[in-house]
Amino acid sequence: MMTIKEIYENFNQIGCLTFSTLAENGYVESRIAHFFAFDEDGLYFRTMDVKPFYRELKQTGKVSVCGMYPSSQVSHDENNLPSFVPGYTMRITGDIRELTMDEVAEKAKSNRDFNVAAYDIKKYPRTRIFVLCRAWGERYDFDYAKEKRDHKLERERFAYGGMPYVNPGLAITDACIECGKCAEICSFNAIEKGDPYRINGNRCDECGNCFHDCPVSAIISKG
Ligand code: SF4
Ligand code: SF4
Repeated sequence: MMTIKEIYENFNQIGCLTFSTLAENGYVESRIAHFFAFDEDGLYFRTMDVKPFYRELKQTGKVSVCGMYPSSQVSHDENNLPSFVPGYTMRITGDIRELTMDEVAEKAKSNRDFNVAAYDIKKYPRTRIFVLCRAWGERYDFDYAKEKRDHKLERERFAYGGMPYVNPGLAITDACIECGKCAEICSFNAIEKGDPYRINGNRCDECGNCFHDCPVSAIISKG
């Protein structure tokens, strides 16, 4: 399981991230921001209390964040099919809490990354600090052209602060008759031979092809 430090480092390497909240009108709103620090309590970000972002955070107590490294560019091959530079995406969703100014000052004493928060509060007094304190998420490492390894996808789900999560991938039940069709059609090399056959969730893209083609409906979606 990834630690909060590793989660932070992966997001920090991306830099600018998309932060999404549920607005009062029922729409999901997104904007660009970043995490500026972490500790054992979670990941920290900031905004100003006059922004809609702040109001939505306070109203819902929730946020969802994602980003992509090293490039979000999409190029196209001779058949006009999309092609991506190998890298990873990260996403995280969970519960947030606003810090008091005393808490921020206390953290700034021992955590160098909080200097930026203290500086911002001085410069922009309406700055407010939040911690993403209970969350689950996923690192999705992709190499679709298999330039560096023999499989396209390697992913890892994580959680902290007591948040549960569901492991990725579909599952094969005992109804499997070991025909091997699913392993043949899986372009992600995610299916291992066995009794029954088994899906390696970290490599599975949940494309649904095996689910669609299994002759005895032995594959289930874990939801
Ligand atoms: S296609 Fe269905 S029955 Fe055949 S090996 Fe895969 S899970 Fe088993
Ligand atoms: S859902 Fe797609 S990627 Fe996952 S095991 Fe089935 S065929 Fe492979």
